[in-house]
Amino acid sequence: MEGSTARITMVLIGPGVLCVFGIAFLWAWAIERRRHYLLLLATAPVLFAFGVMIQVFQRPPGMVENALISALFYTTAVLLLAEGVLRRSGKSFGMTAGLAMLAAIMAGLWYFAVIVPDVLVRIYIQNFGYGAILLFAALRLGALRHGKWADRVLFWVMLVFAVQFFLRTVLTIGLRTPDSTEAFAVSIFWAALHLSLAVLGAAFATAILAAALSDIIEDLRRERDVDTLTGVLNRRGFEGRARALLAQGSGEPHSLILCDLDYFKQINDRYGHAAGDRVLNGFGGLLRHNARADDLFGRIGGEEFAILLRDTALSEAIGFAERLRLELSALEFPFLPSGGRVTASFGVAAAEPGDSLEQLLARADRRLYLAKTSGRNRTLALEVLDVASGR
Ligand code: GH3
Ligand code: MG
Ligand code: MG
Repeated sequence: MEGSTARITMVLIGPGVLCVFGIAFLWAWAIERRRHYLLLLATAPVLFAFGVMIQVFQRPPGMVENALISALFYTTAVLLLAEGVLRRSGKSFGMTAGLAMLAAIMAGLWYFAVIVPDVLVRIYIQNFGYGAILLFAALRLGALRHGKWADRVLFWVMLVFAVQFFLRTVLTIGLRTPDSTEAFAVSIFWAALHLSLAVLGAAFATAILAAALSDIIEDLRRERDVDTLTGVLNRRGFEGRARALLAQGSGEPHSLILCDLDYFKQINDRYGHAAGDRVLNGFGGLLRHNARADDLFGRIGGEEFAILLRDTALSEAIGFAERLRLELSALEFPFLPSGGRVTASFGVAAAEPGDSLEQLLARADRRLYLAKTSGRNRTLALEVLDVASGR
């Protein structure tokens, strides 16, 4: 009696841990409800735990019913788990394929439980079936190997978890099942099954949870650093990245462009704040369209933008600023009266070795100020010389 209580307690550790993972996924979903795949991942461990309980407590008591009902829970859990991980990456088995896999495994199990009873074949169907589902999903997620560290860990843990279903089964049960239920309970197959599911299953669930949380954190960081009106970085986002780039000291020159829209207050005053917002948004689009992948650009004030051009000499940066200036002044804003154009003034400075971001910003700002006071709609890159003028 004591022995069996101890055994049941041991066996219930698994379902307990599974439920904790279910709660953790539910909690992650509560943080960001639009990640629906987290609900699949929350359901999977709980269904698996049900499968274990059905077997441990032998409810329903009939051997065949018990084996089939617990298998239904296990198989559904594995399918939901694989589907959840796929959906995180925007992929899916699809409802039809999912149901077909469930039906195929259950039909096989039913056949070898009722028509031609064979425990060994059932063990192989279940283990190889689950291994195949996870392997199939892992292979469809091959791109994760080149992703962020959480993605890489997830991919490899998933692959190992999938492969162990094949290897462990072949190595621990081979071609013969234990003769009795008691022999089964103390068999090496049973011990290896529980050990691998506990260790690798927990590693897999932890890896998915870590990947999901890293997605959420990345999203929050992006939202924190991006200006919602224009879609470019906000001041905080720009400064953080610009400081990191300057500190790298690649040896190549970097150049900074500061840009301030001309007479912007008048646009707001005459056509309304919403029109002003649309102009800002239009300029953000222009920046996104013109900048190279490595350039940093952000809205660092109301109608003031900064662009840090990586590995770019002053002369090239002036050319970039001029292109922006001309494109902006040619841009038509349909909501402004016909011929209503928007212009901007630009100050450009190259980073000197050892420059801090503040020093570089101050230098570009002095040039921007001169561009304003000398007539606006122009680019200044020297403190005394007008390099290009729209007039
Ligand atoms: P200057 O040519 O000297 O740059 O003149 P300006 O009118 O552009 O500059 P000023 O600094 O006098 O006015 C900037 C205006 O930008 C004032 C402020 O109401 C407006 N502004 C700041 N942030 C936003 C915003 O997010 N949306 C809108 N629509 N307006 C903004
Ligand atoms: Mg302005
Ligand atoms: Mg301004």
